Amino acid sequence: MAVGSWIGVDVGGSKLLAVKLGPDGAVEATATAVMPGRTAPGAELEDAVVRVASVVADGGAVAGLGVAVAGLVDAAAERFLFGAHLPWRDEPIRERLARRTGWTVAMDNDANCAARAEVARGAARGAGSALVITLGTGIGGAVVIDGRVIRGAHGLAGEFGHQQVVPDGLACECGLRGCWEQYSSGRALERVTRVALGRHLDGPEVTRLAREGDVVAQQAFATIGTWLGVGVAGLVSSFDPEIVVVGGGVSAVGDLLFAPARAALAASLQGTAYRPVPPLLAAELGPEAGAIGAALLVSQGSV
Ligand SMILES: [Zn+2]
Repeated sequence: MAVGSWIGVDVGGSKLLAVKLGPDGAVEATATAVMPGRTAPGAELEDAVVRVASVVADGGAVAGLGVAVAGLVDAAAERFLFGAHLPWRDEPIRERLARRTGWTVAMDNDANCAARAEVARGAARGAGSALVITLGTGIGGAVVIDGRVIRGAHGLAGEFGHQQVVPDGLACECGLRGCWEQYSSGRALERVTRVALGRHLDGPEVTRLAREGDVVAQQAFATIGTWLGVGVAGLVSSFDPEIVVVGGGVSAVGDLLFAPARAALAASLQGTAYRPVPPLLAAELGPEAGAIGAALLVSQGSV
Protein backbone atom coordinates (compact mmCIF):
# COMPACT_ATOMS: atom_id res chain seq x y z
CA MET A 1 0.00 0.00 0.00
CA ALA A 2 1.23 3.46 -0.87
CA VAL A 3 2.55 5.60 1.93
CA GLY A 4 1.93 9.33 1.81
CA SER A 5 -0.52 11.69 0.17
CA TRP A 6 -1.87 11.82 -3.35
CA ILE A 7 -1.33 15.21 -4.90
CA GLY A 8 -3.00 16.67 -7.96
CA VAL A 9 -1.92 19.79 -9.85
CA ASP A 10 -4.10 21.42 -12.50
CA VAL A 11 -1.97 23.35 -14.98
CA GLY A 12 -4.51 25.69 -16.52
CA GLY A 13 -4.25 28.55 -18.95
CA SER A 14 -3.94 31.19 -16.28
CA LYS A 15 -2.86 29.51 -13.03
CA LEU A 16 -1.75 26.35 -11.24
CA LEU A 17 -4.05 24.79 -8.65
CA ALA A 18 -2.83 22.00 -6.36
CA VAL A 19 -4.74 19.73 -3.97
CA LYS A 20 -3.61 17.14 -1.45
CA LEU A 21 -5.95 14.24 -0.72
CA GLY A 22 -5.96 12.80 2.78
CA PRO A 23 -6.14 9.09 3.62
CA ASP A 24 -9.95 9.16 3.29
CA GLY A 25 -9.70 10.86 -0.11
CA ALA A 26 -10.94 14.24 1.13
CA VAL A 27 -9.15 17.41 0.05
CA GLU A 28 -6.80 18.28 2.92
CA ALA A 29 -4.94 21.20 1.44
CA THR A 30 -5.03 23.43 -1.63
CA ALA A 31 -2.62 25.96 -3.09
CA THR A 32 -2.51 28.12 -6.18
CA ALA A 33 0.36 29.70 -8.06
CA VAL A 34 0.60 32.08 -10.97
CA MET A 35 1.79 30.75 -14.32
CA PRO A 36 5.22 31.79 -15.53
CA GLY A 37 4.83 34.33 -18.34
CA ARG A 38 3.65 33.19 -21.76
CA THR A 39 7.16 33.42 -23.19
CA ALA A 40 8.94 31.74 -20.25
CA PRO A 41 10.77 28.50 -21.11
CA GLY A 42 9.00 25.21 -20.41
CA ALA A 43 11.44 24.35 -17.61
CA GLU A 44 10.05 27.25 -15.59
CA LEU A 45 6.57 25.75 -15.78
CA GLU A 46 7.97 22.40 -14.59
CA ASP A 47 9.59 24.28 -11.68
CA ALA A 48 6.22 25.87 -10.88
CA VAL A 49 4.41 22.51 -10.90
CA VAL A 50 6.94 20.97 -8.51
CA ARG A 51 6.85 24.05 -6.28
CA VAL A 52 3.07 24.20 -5.89
CA ALA A 53 2.93 20.42 -5.32
CA SER A 54 5.56 20.79 -2.60
CA VAL A 55 3.49 23.53 -0.96
CA VAL A 56 0.48 21.23 -0.46
CA ALA A 57 2.74 18.28 0.46
CA ASP A 58 4.09 20.51 3.23
CA GLY A 59 7.08 18.26 3.93
CA GLY A 60 4.97 15.09 4.25
CA ALA A 61 5.48 11.89 2.27
CA VAL A 62 4.06 11.92 -1.27
CA ALA A 63 2.60 8.72 -2.71
CA GLY A 64 2.17 10.20 -6.17
CA LEU A 65 1.59 13.32 -8.23
CA GLY A 66 -1.14 13.61 -10.85
CA VAL A 67 -0.93 16.45 -13.33
CA ALA A 68 -3.94 17.77 -15.27
CA VAL A 69 -2.88 19.83 -18.26
CA ALA A 70 -4.72 22.22 -20.57
CA GLY A 71 -3.81 20.62 -23.87
CA LEU A 72 -3.25 17.45 -25.83
CA VAL A 73 -1.59 14.44 -24.18
CA ASP A 74 -0.37 11.46 -26.21
CA ALA A 75 -1.88 7.96 -26.08
CA ALA A 76 0.72 6.68 -23.62
CA ALA A 77 0.08 9.70 -21.35
CA GLU A 78 3.78 10.48 -21.42
CA ARG A 79 4.09 13.47 -23.71
CA PHE A 80 2.39 16.84 -23.67
CA LEU A 81 1.82 17.44 -27.37
CA PHE A 82 0.29 20.88 -27.64
CA GLY A 83 -1.71 23.49 -25.75
CA ALA A 84 -2.28 27.04 -26.93
CA HIS A 85 -1.67 28.45 -23.44
CA LEU A 86 1.29 26.32 -22.28
CA PRO A 87 4.92 26.49 -23.48
CA TRP A 88 5.51 22.72 -23.86
CA ARG A 89 5.58 21.25 -27.39
CA ASP A 90 5.72 17.45 -27.79
CA GLU A 91 7.79 17.00 -24.65
CA PRO A 92 8.08 14.04 -22.20
CA ILE A 93 6.65 16.00 -19.29
CA ARG A 94 5.51 13.02 -17.18
CA GLU A 95 8.98 11.48 -17.11
CA ARG A 96 10.69 14.82 -16.48
CA LEU A 97 8.52 15.52 -13.46
CA ALA A 98 9.03 11.98 -12.14
CA ARG A 99 12.81 12.29 -12.48
CA ARG A 100 12.91 15.66 -10.79
CA THR A 101 10.72 14.70 -7.85
CA GLY A 102 11.39 10.99 -7.42
CA TRP A 103 7.61 10.58 -7.13
CA THR A 104 5.24 8.41 -9.13
CA VAL A 105 3.73 10.81 -11.68
CA ALA A 106 0.69 10.47 -13.96
CA MET A 107 -0.59 13.04 -16.46
CA ASP A 108 -3.71 13.59 -18.53
CA ASN A 109 -5.75 16.29 -20.18
CA ASP A 110 -7.53 18.57 -17.69
CA ALA A 111 -11.05 17.82 -18.92
CA ASN A 112 -10.39 14.08 -18.65
CA CYS A 113 -9.21 14.61 -15.09
CA ALA A 114 -12.26 16.73 -14.21
CA ALA A 115 -14.48 13.97 -15.60
CA ARG A 116 -12.79 11.37 -13.38
CA ALA A 117 -13.50 13.55 -10.36
CA GLU A 118 -17.14 14.25 -11.26
CA VAL A 119 -17.77 10.52 -11.84
CA ALA A 120 -15.97 9.46 -8.66
CA ARG A 121 -17.45 12.02 -6.29
CA GLY A 122 -19.33 14.79 -8.10
CA ALA A 123 -22.53 15.25 -10.08
CA ALA A 124 -22.00 12.05 -12.12
CA ARG A 125 -21.15 9.76 -9.21
CA GLY A 126 -22.51 6.28 -9.68
CA ALA A 127 -22.97 6.77 -13.42
CA GLY A 128 -21.27 4.15 -15.57
CA SER A 129 -21.35 6.41 -18.61
CA ALA A 130 -21.28 10.18 -18.68
CA LEU A 131 -20.38 13.18 -20.75
CA VAL A 132 -18.55 15.88 -18.84
CA ILE A 133 -18.32 19.30 -20.48
CA THR A 134 -16.24 22.18 -19.13
CA LEU A 135 -17.52 25.54 -20.28
CA GLY A 136 -14.78 28.06 -19.71
CA THR A 137 -13.07 30.38 -22.17
CA GLY A 138 -13.54 27.50 -24.62
CA ILE A 139 -15.10 24.05 -24.31
CA GLY A 140 -13.35 21.06 -22.77
CA GLY A 141 -14.90 17.63 -22.61
CA ALA A 142 -14.58 13.98 -21.79
CA VAL A 143 -16.49 10.79 -22.43
CA VAL A 144 -16.78 8.17 -19.71
CA ILE A 145 -17.98 4.72 -20.79
CA ASP A 146 -18.23 1.79 -18.38
CA GLY A 147 -16.49 3.90 -15.73
CA ARG A 148 -13.44 4.72 -17.82
CA VAL A 149 -12.43 7.91 -19.60
CA ILE A 150 -12.20 7.19 -23.33
CA ARG A 151 -8.87 8.63 -24.48
CA GLY A 152 -9.02 7.48 -28.10
CA ALA A 153 -6.42 5.89 -30.40
CA HIS A 154 -4.03 8.84 -29.97
CA GLY A 155 -5.12 10.19 -26.58
CA LEU A 156 -7.05 13.01 -28.22
CA ALA A 157 -10.70 12.07 -27.70
CA GLY A 158 -13.10 14.55 -26.12
CA GLU A 159 -11.95 17.71 -27.88
CA PHE A 160 -15.59 18.58 -28.49
CA GLY A 161 -15.02 22.30 -28.61
CA HIS A 162 -13.52 22.05 -32.06
CA GLN A 163 -16.17 20.00 -33.77
CA GLN A 164 -17.67 22.08 -36.52
CA VAL A 165 -21.29 23.09 -35.91
CA VAL A 166 -21.53 25.84 -38.56
CA PRO A 167 -19.87 25.27 -41.96
CA ASP A 168 -17.82 28.38 -42.83
CA GLY A 169 -18.82 29.83 -39.47
CA LEU A 170 -16.89 32.04 -37.08
CA ALA A 171 -13.10 31.78 -37.13
CA CYS A 172 -11.62 29.84 -34.20
CA GLU A 173 -8.21 30.26 -32.51
CA CYS A 174 -7.43 26.70 -33.62
CA GLY A 175 -7.37 27.83 -37.24
CA LEU A 176 -10.67 26.20 -38.25
CA ARG A 177 -14.08 27.79 -38.74
CA GLY A 178 -17.45 27.19 -37.13
CA CYS A 179 -16.12 25.34 -34.06
CA TRP A 180 -18.71 24.67 -31.34
CA GLU A 181 -16.78 26.71 -28.76
CA GLN A 182 -17.23 29.82 -30.88
CA TYR A 183 -20.98 29.54 -30.20
CA SER A 184 -21.13 28.21 -26.64
CA SER A 185 -18.35 29.26 -24.24
CA GLY A 186 -17.16 32.25 -22.26
CA ARG A 187 -15.75 33.71 -25.44
CA ALA A 188 -19.09 33.23 -27.21
CA LEU A 189 -20.92 34.84 -24.29
CA GLU A 190 -18.73 37.92 -24.57
CA ARG A 191 -19.14 38.10 -28.32
CA VAL A 192 -22.93 37.78 -28.24
CA THR A 193 -23.12 40.48 -25.55
CA ARG A 194 -20.77 42.76 -27.47
CA VAL A 195 -22.88 42.48 -30.60
CA ALA A 196 -26.05 43.29 -28.65
CA LEU A 197 -24.63 46.15 -26.56
CA GLY A 198 -21.92 47.56 -28.79
CA ARG A 199 -19.35 47.35 -25.99
CA HIS A 200 -17.23 44.71 -24.31
CA LEU A 201 -18.16 43.07 -21.01
CA ASP A 202 -16.25 40.10 -19.60
CA GLY A 203 -17.97 36.83 -18.68
CA PRO A 204 -18.29 37.47 -14.93
CA GLU A 205 -19.86 40.88 -15.63
CA VAL A 206 -22.39 39.35 -18.01
CA THR A 207 -23.16 36.72 -15.37
CA ARG A 208 -23.75 39.38 -12.72
CA LEU A 209 -26.02 41.38 -15.01
CA ALA A 210 -28.00 38.29 -15.98
CA ARG A 211 -28.55 37.41 -12.32
CA GLU A 212 -29.75 40.96 -11.68
CA GLY A 213 -32.37 40.55 -14.40
CA ASP A 214 -30.72 42.36 -17.30
CA VAL A 215 -32.59 41.19 -20.39
CA VAL A 216 -29.66 41.51 -22.82
CA ALA A 217 -27.37 39.47 -20.56
CA GLN A 218 -30.08 36.84 -20.03
CA GLN A 219 -30.66 36.62 -23.77
CA ALA A 220 -26.92 36.11 -24.29
CA PHE A 221 -27.02 33.14 -21.91
CA ALA A 222 -30.11 31.83 -23.71
CA THR A 223 -28.24 32.01 -27.01
CA ILE A 224 -25.14 30.15 -25.83
CA GLY A 225 -27.33 27.78 -23.78
CA THR A 226 -29.27 26.81 -26.90
CA TRP A 227 -25.99 26.15 -28.71
CA LEU A 228 -24.86 24.11 -25.71
CA GLY A 229 -27.93 21.90 -25.98
CA VAL A 230 -27.58 21.49 -29.74
CA GLY A 231 -23.95 20.37 -29.38
CA VAL A 232 -24.72 18.08 -26.44
CA ALA A 233 -27.50 16.45 -28.48
CA GLY A 234 -24.96 15.41 -31.11
CA LEU A 235 -22.78 13.89 -28.41
CA VAL A 236 -25.74 12.13 -26.77
CA SER A 237 -26.64 10.65 -30.16
CA SER A 238 -23.08 9.33 -30.42
CA PHE A 239 -22.47 8.05 -26.89
CA ASP A 240 -25.88 7.54 -25.20
CA PRO A 241 -24.67 8.60 -21.71
CA GLU A 242 -26.67 8.21 -18.49
CA ILE A 243 -25.95 11.80 -17.56
CA VAL A 244 -24.40 14.98 -18.96
CA VAL A 245 -22.51 17.20 -16.52
CA VAL A 246 -21.54 20.77 -17.35
CA GLY A 247 -18.97 22.67 -15.29
CA GLY A 248 -16.62 25.59 -15.79
CA GLY A 249 -17.01 29.26 -14.97
CA VAL A 250 -19.77 29.93 -17.49
CA SER A 251 -22.02 27.30 -15.88
CA ALA A 252 -22.12 29.18 -12.57
CA VAL A 253 -25.09 31.24 -13.81
CA GLY A 254 -27.33 28.16 -13.39
CA ASP A 255 -30.75 27.83 -14.98
CA LEU A 256 -30.35 30.87 -17.23
CA LEU A 257 -27.93 28.61 -19.12
CA PHE A 258 -29.27 25.15 -18.27
CA ALA A 259 -32.96 25.72 -19.08
CA PRO A 260 -32.40 26.71 -22.73
CA ALA A 261 -29.72 24.01 -23.01
CA ARG A 262 -32.14 21.31 -21.79
CA ALA A 263 -34.83 22.53 -24.17
CA ALA A 264 -32.44 22.47 -27.12
CA LEU A 265 -31.13 19.05 -26.14
CA ALA A 266 -34.64 17.58 -26.05
CA ALA A 267 -35.57 19.31 -29.31
CA SER A 268 -32.45 18.08 -31.12
CA LEU A 269 -32.64 14.37 -30.31
CA GLN A 270 -34.57 11.89 -32.37
CA GLY A 271 -37.37 9.82 -30.90
CA THR A 272 -37.64 11.60 -27.57
CA ALA A 273 -41.11 10.14 -26.97
CA TYR A 274 -39.53 6.70 -26.98
CA ARG A 275 -36.10 7.19 -25.42
CA PRO A 276 -34.69 8.73 -22.25
CA VAL A 277 -33.18 12.19 -22.58
CA PRO A 278 -30.23 12.19 -20.16
CA PRO A 279 -30.30 14.75 -17.37
CA LEU A 280 -28.13 17.80 -18.04
CA LEU A 281 -26.78 18.85 -14.65
CA ALA A 282 -24.29 21.29 -13.17
CA ALA A 283 -20.90 19.94 -12.10
CA GLU A 284 -20.41 19.84 -8.34
CA LEU A 285 -16.69 20.05 -7.70
CA GLY A 286 -16.01 23.54 -9.01
CA PRO A 287 -12.55 24.73 -10.01
CA GLU A 288 -10.81 21.95 -8.04
CA ALA A 289 -12.26 19.18 -10.24
CA GLY A 290 -9.23 18.89 -12.53
CA ALA A 291 -6.71 18.72 -9.68
CA ILE A 292 -8.83 16.22 -7.71
CA GLY A 293 -9.19 14.06 -10.81
CA ALA A 294 -5.43 14.17 -11.40
CA ALA A 295 -4.81 12.98 -7.85
CA LEU A 296 -7.37 10.19 -8.34
CA LEU A 297 -5.67 9.25 -11.62
CA VAL A 298 -2.27 8.68 -10.03
CA SER A 299 -3.81 6.98 -7.00
CA GLN A 300 -5.52 4.47 -9.30
CA GLY A 301 -2.27 3.74 -11.11
CA SER A 302 -3.61 3.88 -14.65
CA VAL A 303 -4.77 6.33 -17.28
ZN1 LIG B 1 -11.57 25.45 -33.13
